Amino acid sequence: MNQHGGKDNAYAGFEQGPIRPPSEAYSLLIRVTRNCPWNRCTFCPVYKGARFSIRPVEHVKRDIDSVHRYVQTLRQLADESGRVSRTEIGRAFENVEPGDWQVFNVALNWAAGGMRSVFLQDANSLVIKPARLVEILTHIKMRFPWVERITSYARSHTLARMKDDDMKAIRDAGLDRIHTGLESGSDKILEMVAKGATKEMHVKAGRKVKRAGIELSEYYMPGLGGRTLSEENAIETADAVNQINPDFIRLRTLAIPDRAPLFEDHRAGRFEKCTDVTVAQEILTFVERLEGITSIVKSDHILNPFGDLEGTLPHDKERMAALLRTFLAMTPERQRLYQVGRRLGIFACLRDMGNPQKLANVENAYQELGITPDNVDKVMDQLTKRFI
Ligand code: SF4
Repeated sequence: MNQHGGKDNAYAGFEQGPIRPPSEAYSLLIRVTRNCPWNRCTFCPVYKGARFSIRPVEHVKRDIDSVHRYVQTLRQLADESGRVSRTEIGRAFENVEPGDWQVFNVALNWAAGGMRSVFLQDANSLVIKPARLVEILTHIKMRFPWVERITSYARSHTLARMKDDDMKAIRDAGLDRIHTGLESGSDKILEMVAKGATKEMHVKAGRKVKRAGIELSEYYMPGLGGRTLSEENAIETADAVNQINPDFIRLRTLAIPDRAPLFEDHRAGRFEKCTDVTVAQEILTFVERLEGITSIVKSDHILNPFGDLEGTLPHDKERMAALLRTFLAMTPERQRLYQVGRRLGIFACLRDMGNPQKLANVENAYQELGITPDNVDKVMDQLTKRFI
């Protein structure tokens, strides 16, 4: 039985998984596999308790065909500027087949977002046989020939074992970008959090993706080593990405949701979480060590302490380092104000501290929350939980 209560070989209707990268917010989500075939990373709560399964290619194609059917309907209803009126949408909705409301909504949202990209779910689509993935990609291209980008998550463990020819075939069939959770380049940390990958494996996998002509997003998790391994996390991760030269380095600062196995270690005192100040120091060390690469650094997640810590290497390296040094040179009181403002969503970046209205709002919240040097990190953890 699958998680939808049906046998794995019986089509249970259109499916979507729980997550996608923030950069795929407007992508059509096509579920190729369910959940995560590894599922052991201690910092990750997403698929815990859910069994991994591969969806039959025919089911995935039926999903694609269903979206295609409603996309075609919406296109026929569009006026010359490409817009569909609410009245027309209401009429179209009345003709949606029973059981197709979800897929109609998916088509509607994708159409509203411009229908430019597709993201393959869930955690590791590359784990299926390459020929099957090629078949799915070919079907997407056939149904939606205008799509500019098709992307997927994939584990380094899977990628490192793939043949170059298979990777190339997947690229030729239309996969443009792979998102990989590198998290850390430190073998000590990777083992500690049960990532199921080594630094060498990460480097091998990343280089293979690049060699095939597929864009690569590598996710770095500042704070994953805790206080004791914070510096090592920065140094080893910078060394790994220097060897890979991914197209994107995406920062994803550690948060510890209650559902993650790491939460127990944290609660029992076996894992000492970094403060925002330690994380800033770690990211500074990381940035300072990036050498000889042309990656784009992105900070596209609310969990990151600095929303504007972005740029293209090597050009923006010094600017990014300067931003972090500015924060680290601030008085502890100003640092706390910034932390509170960021976690409340009032500040997006350090620059916002120069906005008198925003600063006044944060100062009020600071008083109301009763922030002190002793409780600031605990309160920040509580505020962070709203985002995870
Ligand atoms: S591989 Fe990814 S999805 Fe799977 S447990 Fe690890 S972090 Fe979570």
